[in-house]
Amino acid sequence: YQVPNWSGGWFRVSDKGQLEATTSPGLHVPLRAIVDEIVDRGESLPVILRFPQVLAGRVKHLNEVFGQAIAEYGYTRHYQGVFPIKVNQRRAVVETVASAGYDYAHGLEAGSKAELALCLAQRMHPDALLCCNGFKDDGFIKLALWGRTLGKNVVITIEKFSELDRILKQAKALGVRPAIGVRFKLHARGSGQWEESGGDQAKFGLNAYELLRVVERLKEEGMIDSLVMLHTHIGSQITDIRRVKVAVREATQTYAGLIAAGAELKYLNVGGGLGVDYDGSKTTFYASMNYTVKEYAADVVYTIQETCKARGVPEPIIISESGRALTAHHAVLILPVIDVTGPTRNLEDQELVAPAEDSHQLIKDMHEIVQNISMRNYREMYNDAVGDKQTLHDLFDLGYVTLQDRARGEALFNAILRKISKLIQSEKYVPDELEDLQKVLADKYICNFSLFQSLPDNWAIQALFPIVPLDRLNQKPTRQATLVDITCDSDGKIEKFIDLRDVKATLPLHEPGKQPYYLGVFLMGAYQDVLGSSHNLFGKVSEAHVTVRPGGRFNIDLFVRGQKARRMIESMGYEEPMLRDSIEDQADAALKVGTLTPGQEHELLEDYGEELLGYTYLEYEES
Ligand code: PLP
Repeated sequence: YQVPNWSGGWFRVSDKGQLEATTSPGLHVPLRAIVDEIVDRGESLPVILRFPQVLAGRVKHLNEVFGQAIAEYGYTRHYQGVFPIKVNQRRAVVETVASAGYDYAHGLEAGSKAELALCLAQRMHPDALLCCNGFKDDGFIKLALWGRTLGKNVVITIEKFSELDRILKQAKALGVRPAIGVRFKLHARGSGQWEESGGDQAKFGLNAYELLRVVERLKEEGMIDSLVMLHTHIGSQITDIRRVKVAVREATQTYAGLIAAGAELKYLNVGGGLGVDYDGSKTTFYASMNYTVKEYAADVVYTIQETCKARGVPEPIIISESGRALTAHHAVLILPVIDVTGPTRNLEDQELVAPAEDSHQLIKDMHEIVQNISMRNYREMYNDAVGDKQTLHDLFDLGYVTLQDRARGEALFNAILRKISKLIQSEKYVPDELEDLQKVLADKYICNFSLFQSLPDNWAIQALFPIVPLDRLNQKPTRQATLVDITCDSDGKIEKFIDLRDVKATLPLHEPGKQPYYLGVFLMGAYQDVLGSSHNLFGKVSEAHVTVRPGGRFNIDLFVRGQKARRMIESMGYEEPMLRDSIEDQADAALKVGTLTPGQEHELLEDYGEELLGYTYLEYEES
């Protein structure tokens, strides 16, 4: 499961084979113990475990490594981070980042009016920035300007040229001096899935000509000192550090150009993009990154310093808007496995029995194949078996094969595939037609969750997340599996798993026994929590906020129950009394025609009410 490669030291496998959270050196707790405590309290799963200590640790680490690079290179100004709250607007997340970042003057970034309203209400260090990105109307700009009167260091970033006039107009009307940033479309591009966020065709930002016009316009207005920040962003999850360096150099050249044109910029904002190594491969693969947070900080500081030196301009305060890298590690989604299905289950007994005399000839043929398959003939045998299975189905459709023979034939076919799969396990070259064999034979582990609510990026953009059983990690897994969720949507499945060299089609798992079997989905604290949708009316998942204490102890500081069915139904325009009335009317009518007894009516209404107030996920008695 590659735990040491992707965990960044925040998770580890204990000697007892348990997955543990490690919130700081010496503080470890098995995730299984936390889940057991939640279940003992009578709460239902799935649940998200949040570790504010991990989140605070990430904020600290980012600020410390920038601090170290600045000290090492003798950079004359400092670093200030800004957390883009769109990555995760949850209260626990924003408040933890704000408080862990207070001493570093780590700020916030809002991309909409609602996000700004939320950010303005946060306690922030007076120097901490509150960056306003995204397209803006007058209301957005006014709110940002009011923020300055509250003593907050609000900077309004111009994303398109026409916003400048709006800002100037509102600032004059309110009599508030604005602080303005300007986003520049770098021609440098990121790498990986968000490459399109940068480059000349990017959605946001001004080109060089527009940038210079902003400077001229502000000079004309006698407000050039309001232009405080140059902002750039080449996309999230930049996998290749070389792209970062190229972009930062271009951004610093642009900064120097603006200074030369008469601007008095204070901040250079290099945007987001600091990656997360989801698969632990440390490569430029889209789910990875070929650098560390420390190397990122060193390269940003060094590149800005070198370029400023060459251009003879003062060094700016460095800003980054890292979101993913701060939040991904702190949250783990716990999935209970509720059942296992698969093409090879419940079949083993039948396969070995020799076919009866009166069995169909096809069944006899397939049984021969199972007996005679070898390393030398498996390809030929495979093709024969595929042909036999096709014929079996054709004959069944025409009524010449019984349901019993069909069942036997399908079982034999699976036995053939399993034998071949074992034979080719150690083969370097696998024939094309057999490449998917492992996936075809894999079990489906049914997990109590909705992919669309909890891991939308896996569905939408094939994002990979490490998935690991919470215990039994000292036992060799015996099954290969894919995961399916409980939505009525065949897309609700996970069929891609991390691998050091590529993507794996199946996940090795243990045969679930009498004890509940739980899987943890890791590194899901960025974007997943807030992008999810309520497909099938599966709502927000319950959350436990956990603090790890010395001696393997922990506190569940807060348990936030997931959305109730009633809330999900009401979000679609229904009202609870209306639903209850309708059921009561129908029950009364059923009483009259005698399909319900008075006792049953009472129970029915009670059950209905209970489900309205219940969790939207499956609720089994965990034992
Ligand atoms: N800043 C801007 C302008 C963004 O658009 C984004 C997201 O793409 C971010 C910051 C956050 O990026 P990341 O989560 O990769 O750090």
